[in-house]
Amino acid sequence: MTTRPLLTAVLTLALSLQALTQTASRDFEKAGWRACKEAGAPRMAQERGDFSDPGIHVTYYRLRLTLSPSPALLTGDVSAKAACVADSIRTVQFDLSGSMTVDSVLGAGGSLRFSQFLQGFQVQLERTYRKGETLTLDTYYRGVPGATGFGSFMFSSQNGVPWIWTLSEPYGARDWWPCKDDNSDKADSVDMFVTVPAGLKAGSNGTLADTQANVDGTTTFHWSERYPIAVYLVSLAATNYAEIDDWFRYSPSDSMPIVNYVLPQSLSDGVGALAETKSMLRIFSDAYGLYPFIKEKYGHAQFGLGGAMEHQTMTSTTNFAENTISHELAHQWFGDMITCANWPSLWLNEGFAVFSESVFLEKYYGPGAYKAHIEDVMSAAFNATGTLYVQDTSTVATLFDFNRVYAKGAWTLHMLRHVLGDSAFFRSMRAYASDPRFRFKSATTEGFRSVCESVSGKDLGYFFDEWVYGEGYPRYGYRWTSTPTTGGYGVTVTLSQSGSSAATPFFRMPVDIRMVAGTRDTTVTVFHTATGETFTFQVPFPPSDVQIDPDKRILRDVTPPDAILPESYALAQNYPNPFNPGTWLSFSLPHRSDVTLTVYDPLGREIAVLIRGQLEAGTHTVRWGGTDARGYLVASGTYFYRLTAGTYGETRKMMLVR
Ligand SMILES: [Zn+2]
Repeated sequence: MTTRPLLTAVLTLALSLQALTQTASRDFEKAGWRACKEAGAPRMAQERGDFSDPGIHVTYYRLRLTLSPSPALLTGDVSAKAACVADSIRTVQFDLSGSMTVDSVLGAGGSLRFSQFLQGFQVQLERTYRKGETLTLDTYYRGVPGATGFGSFMFSSQNGVPWIWTLSEPYGARDWWPCKDDNSDKADSVDMFVTVPAGLKAGSNGTLADTQANVDGTTTFHWSERYPIAVYLVSLAATNYAEIDDWFRYSPSDSMPIVNYVLPQSLSDGVGALAETKSMLRIFSDAYGLYPFIKEKYGHAQFGLGGAMEHQTMTSTTNFAENTISHELAHQWFGDMITCANWPSLWLNEGFAVFSESVFLEKYYGPGAYKAHIEDVMSAAFNATGTLYVQDTSTVATLFDFNRVYAKGAWTLHMLRHVLGDSAFFRSMRAYASDPRFRFKSATTEGFRSVCESVSGKDLGYFFDEWVYGEGYPRYGYRWTSTPTTGGYGVTVTLSQSGSSAATPFFRMPVDIRMVAGTRDTTVTVFHTATGETFTFQVPFPPSDVQIDPDKRILRDVTPPDAILPESYALAQNYPNPFNPGTWLSFSLPHRSDVTLTVYDPLGREIAVLIRGQLEAGTHTVRWGGTDARGYLVASGTYFYRLTAGTYGETRKMMLVR
């Protein structure tokens, strides 16, 4: 499988960042991806919407599939129950690859006429249906499913045992079953009956309602999904799986099964971070609202495609790396419960899942793990080309672009977190996940934006315009000066910016500016609206450094400022004043000078010499601890401090109050 370039590309579908940073798999993945791109990925089926039938809404599917591995054959019967959403329905179209042969279609009155073509078939109904009526069509078909996109449907083997799995995202459902392939039109429920040879166990969506041993030695597994589901998330995986079960106890009296189908050899080879699944379920339930499919299950089925895929309630995965497991689990909220309404909006699935890898790490290991992970993603996000909104969704290479959809998507949420603040951001995520307009349905960027705006009360048009529909990232440059003022220091920062892409020349953004002096610092957030904009602040200490976006809240680069030298000598008022026990004394030198800074008492007696020597140009700060030259504490009272530098001399007064 991995010798086929296109199939190696699946790694990016669900690639854990951990895996990305592991040299071997990363190189392997990148090589595969490059090969895929260079070979020119085959065009996938046309983008959804231009084929699937707009006249019906399928409410329910029942799949009865018989899988014969040798020779490979799928024999199926799919019953679709649909509501007519338009008037005068005479025909119904389903998506189905022409590599599958339709034998017959049954309707209410018996066998119906149909015609099959490249990507589907059209059924002549026995009469005209009106809007609001329901109909049920049973399609009997067979064939060897084609493998488009990331593979769609695979007859394979492991250790000589048949190994069959699916991965339909984005357009592959039609490769193995007749459906209405439209993310924005989910079925309410699905029953999957899979018949496999003796010794195989088949996993799928929802709960295992029944297992039946057939007289011919085969076994039929009946899986029942009672939550709405997009057709690309309908899945199956079968081999001689071992089972590792666990429980997610989500209240003192309630628990949900965690069901893992792993290869028998994985029991000895190890299953990585699989045991962390229940911690992840708890953490994401806290962050986004209770796990969406709580009445059913969550789990994994091991498949051989190289990465992982968030099949609803049962992720298919090759490895059990921590970031892979958390990524796919997060998709259960963002991808499965709320599905991107169209493929150009895929960042609503993938950006959310990569960002959630960071969220899990933050809650499980601490803020440092979040920061390390999101900054790891940053380098990929820098390399994103085009807009986050993907215009060309016709190949997996352009649609599942890691830099663009995954990394920059994650960074868009990371930046939104700063724009909204932690509280409003996570309230927005929970509100989005519970919004009846989107929950168990689908969403667009505008839908997500509307939730964030109503929760935060902020107009976020600029943000989504820049980061979803704009290109590149901001490049900042800046200059700063500080001058002593009454009671502190005036800091002036001039912030310039240009976009890395001409398509988006300027990013309006809140920008953190941090002023630092020794171990002290203060951070101010400004809203940057124009290049060359100047901001002034009053701070109690003279900064030795000013930093732009020091915590990397923005996908940006920053050019360090040229050193700006003071224009004249100055001695600042001490801070704090009055003071006890110590205070800070600052002064500015326009060029290198021989300096003396001395403390006197009111009688003019020298108490302490704080500095005597040559200093470089710049602003300098020294602390006086209220002691004399021998280190003894001096009494309360007024003191004077005098700076001499060349011909310059100035004296100021300070008050020690013990
Ligand atoms: Zn993903």
